[in-house]
Amino acid sequence: MRMNDRIAATMPPVPHVEVVGRVDGRCPGCGKTGDHTALRVPGDPGPDRELFAYGLCDACGTLFLDEPIDPSQFYGPNYYSHHAPPPASALKTKAMTARNIVTLFAPAAISRAMGRVSEHPTLPCLRPVIHGEVSRAFGRDARWIDIGCGHGALLKTLKAAGFRNLTGADPFMVAESHEPGLRLLRSDGISLSEQFDVVMMQSSLEHVLDPDAVLSGLHRILAPGGVVLIRIPIISSYAWRTYGGEWGNLDAPRHVTLWSQSGFEAAAARNGWKVARAACDGYMRGITSSEARLIGESEHFGKVNRLFTRSQLRTWKKLAADLNRSGQADELAFYLTA
Ligand SMILES: [Zn+2]
Repeated sequence: MRMNDRIAATMPPVPHVEVVGRVDGRCPGCGKTGDHTALRVPGDPGPDRELFAYGLCDACGTLFLDEPIDPSQFYGPNYYSHHAPPPASALKTKAMTARNIVTLFAPAAISRAMGRVSEHPTLPCLRPVIHGEVSRAFGRDARWIDIGCGHGALLKTLKAAGFRNLTGADPFMVAESHEPGLRLLRSDGISLSEQFDVVMMQSSLEHVLDPDAVLSGLHRILAPGGVVLIRIPIISSYAWRTYGGEWGNLDAPRHVTLWSQSGFEAAAARNGWKVARAACDGYMRGITSSEARLIGESEHFGKVNRLFTRSQLRTWKKLAADLNRSGQADELAFYLTA
């Protein structure tokens, strides 16, 4: 078979990526070694736009960075996850905390109804852990760690909702802090010498250069009977097929690995984990961050919702909910047990 035919046979066409041939490598999803489809994927929009080399596994569809680069050079001083936004008013903080408590602890139907009025993009995926749907129930007294926590926004939200034993770890932590119920540490998490009941990686494993080392290292810090929750962007999705290289959650080159669902499940199994549950967990942001890139903007330059009309945002919020229901969302939450 000729080279171009072989590429065409293995990769459905997606927009805004350049297929440049074949590349040797090991897939971080299914583990297949040998040659994969070689792609060039665009980085942030702008006049000095760079292209980055990725490999796309022909066996499981996982996309992986194929450049020997130091990712830290792409997290400039303004990278959003390392800086806390300015504090909200006392009244707004109180209202958001009340909403978050309903989202986390109310019966499922009430929590869902609240989400239609006002949604928090991360808290719903904690419900199966809190309500004992994947292991035993882990609530406010359990030991929680968030690896790759940035400035600790999620943990501060959980503390306000009454959680009492929270740890955040991030190798790029600007300033460590210790307060009752919440510690923020400059650490990769897996080298801590203690154990946790719930280990979370929220949109962070895709940034890691050696995800197998992290997945295997998580066993050391998970207490017996505990749960690992890993939320990652997923390439087997509507957003990748529709936006390709402009898919906002691809975020080259900061996202080193974009797993397919089967690719991630293979990686989890290879590292000794059982996937107790996998749930679609996409939000409108996956769509708006992609639409922004189509017009030369990026969420790394500022909030993108201002670029769109209310009607567009309504349409995309509904689309994101539909994609979750039909299993085509661009983010998945995986619940792992040992
Ligand atoms: Zn693969």
